[in-house]
Amino acid sequence: MKYFSVVLTFLLAFFLSGCFFSEEAESERARLQNAIGEYIYRRHNEYLFKPEPATQSAPILYSWENNSFHSITKEYFRCKGSSLNPPHVVQRKQETLRFFDCGGAERHSLPLHNDKEFVYPILINLLNYLQHKSGKKIVITSGHRCPQHNVYVDDSLENQSSKHMIGAEVSFYVQGWEDKPAEIIKLIHHYYLETPKYKGLKDFQEFSRYEKQDTNVSTLPWMNKEVFVKLFKKKEGRNFDNRHPYPYISIQVRYDMETQTKVFYSWEKAHRNFLRQ
Ligand SMILES: [Zn+2]
Repeated sequence: MKYFSVVLTFLLAFFLSGCFFSEEAESERARLQNAIGEYIYRRHNEYLFKPEPATQSAPILYSWENNSFHSITKEYFRCKGSSLNPPHVVQRKQETLRFFDCGGAERHSLPLHNDKEFVYPILINLLNYLQHKSGKKIVITSGHRCPQHNVYVDDSLENQSSKHMIGAEVSFYVQGWEDKPAEIIKLIHHYYLETPKYKGLKDFQEFSRYEKQDTNVSTLPWMNKEVFVKLFKKKEGRNFDNRHPYPYISIQVRYDMETQTKVFYSWEKAHRNFLRQ
């Protein structure tokens, strides 16, 4: 019995290995058969070439990393007020005053002009020019201020006729150029020199300095017929909209090219000329 099982094991092993060998031989035969006739032809004028060695290309920048910033539109001028801001408390003599912020741009519109929301185009054009020329992003800290946000931002008497309320004033700084406000002033001047519609118009191309001491800045403001430009140093003109530590620039519109009239603040324009929800 023992011999029988040994013989059986050998037979089984022989049989299995036979199967295995024959399978291998079969696949080899198939391989050779498939290989037959697989010639590769070359034409007489074909040649080999070496590919250029690989070089590392510059990384693709994200949209906020390159200089193609979004164009500035009137949307950037919307009132920065918010009902979430805490009351602004002022102690005057024996009186405690509390100013509450507005509901923000969701609760009211920009100033209106011919039934459309409106910001003086010169401000939009100038800021786009500055952004394009500097290659840096403009940060508008204060565009339109509704009367409620305006008094919340700064309750001083002088601020109560601010042109921010009529879409004729903007405060901003240039990201990356925070300490170069003089460069920005230079570019504002260049805008008037380079823009064709001001060609030959001395009143616009030449800036003078405003000498009177009735402003809230220590640097004499610059002005031409159309704009009035103030530079606020690091510790000047701080208000709720300008709580950053940088110097900033404000541009006020003095003259409307479209209607050829001077631009004044009026209570009517500030308080009655926008939609509230
Ligand atoms: Zn507001």
